Amino acid sequence: MNYRKKTVKDVDVKGKKVLLRCDFNVPMAKDGSGVITDDKRIRAALPTIQYLLDQGAAVIACSHMGKPNATYESYVKKQTEKGKDPATLTEESWKKSLAQLSLKPVAARLSELLGKPVIMAADVVGPDATAKAAALKPGEIMLLENTRFEAGETKNDPELARKMAAMADLYVSDAFGAVHRAHASTAGVAAYLPAVSGFLIQKELEVIGGALSDPKRPLVAILGGSKVSSKIGVINNLLEIADTIIIGGGMAYTFSAAKGGKVGDSLLEADWEDYANDMVKKAAEKGVKLLLPVDTVCADAFAPDAHTQVVKEGEIPDGWQGLDIGPETVALYCQAVKGAGTVIWNGPMGVFEFPAFAKGTEAVAKALSETDAITIIGGGDSAAAVQQLGYADKMTHISTGGGASLEFMEGKELPGVACLLDK
Ligand code: ADP
Ligand code: MG
Repeated sequence: MNYRKKTVKDVDVKGKKVLLRCDFNVPMAKDGSGVITDDKRIRAALPTIQYLLDQGAAVIACSHMGKPNATYESYVKKQTEKGKDPATLTEESWKKSLAQLSLKPVAARLSELLGKPVIMAADVVGPDATAKAAALKPGEIMLLENTRFEAGETKNDPELARKMAAMADLYVSDAFGAVHRAHASTAGVAAYLPAVSGFLIQKELEVIGGALSDPKRPLVAILGGSKVSSKIGVINNLLEIADTIIIGGGMAYTFSAAKGGKVGDSLLEADWEDYANDMVKKAAEKGVKLLLPVDTVCADAFAPDAHTQVVKEGEIPDGWQGLDIGPETVALYCQAVKGAGTVIWNGPMGVFEFPAFAKGTEAVAKALSETDAITIIGGGDSAAAVQQLGYADKMTHISTGGGASLEFMEGKELPGVACLLDK
């Protein structure tokens, strides 16, 4: 995928109406009070918004939030599948479910952060949005309602895309977390408007795209997390690119079992053992250094206060499960990171959510923080781990899109990027 795309700086935005796709899919309090529990994604959008406003553009921001049922019929179907009594599923209860996914609280928070009013539209392409967009002046900003309130959004309906595009002169995409989806607001609109990236996507493309296509070597990829099956695409693609691949986390036990090791009750995907063996062979053929754990911290239960012991790889007793890499593995992996030019990390080394099993992940994070290498963190849980452990500001780049960065690292084309103008 060509990742060299035009940005807001490559086009004239003065006096233009800009449809800006943001990722305002923020976590909200479960009680329906409309309280935003983490506004990181709103703050991340500020540089592009501020730039556009300062340059004299009028900004029509849009985003999805959660997974609303865009029609009453789909609401009844979903809720019935979940076991709800169809008699209780009224039009009113449907509308209530939609109201909880309104972007109104986002408009309020965005307004506080920008220090200026944010005009909230009552719909996406309905009469309120179109009237407000038509009246919008340079330097002003409005927010459309949740794009998924329109059934055409997730279907990438050209008619919806055309209506959204009709409100604006230019499309700017800054929702990296949504570029792997071909939806009306993430890709479809680009058929009707010149399309460029905002600063968030620009950085994602430059850093991750650069590391994948022309990395500062040696390129070390650290892959962990729970399952081999969810990382197959990344492993395959990185086998073609990386100099060293390090395997940790739950997926390591499938490699261990494939070699005939004893893995006890550890996470195991028996169906993938052949693949694991193939990968070891392929790495050897390609001259890619593949590092697997040599010891493991295992526990007698999947619990924060379980009894633990360190054992050699492939020697986990019955009734025990591996929940972190062991100290010898930590030393080996930290050494491998030391001389790297670029490190791509996707997937924690253990069950970092429990402090007793966060040591491997923390040691790797620390090693990354101490190198001069370009360090890239992809994957939602890896990003959370690095943040939680306090190393976030020591990394070159923490991707803002878990699913999108995974597909990027798999070498797949991202529809929301492919639709932007090439440099
Ligand atoms: P990312 O979101 O960074 O791509 P994944 O979703 O693939 O990462 O995996 C993250 C999860 O993997 C974490 O919740 C972590 O607890 C789990 N995990 C890591 N190591 C193990 C292990 N040894 N056993 C079970 N789960 C593990
Ligand atoms: Mg994850």
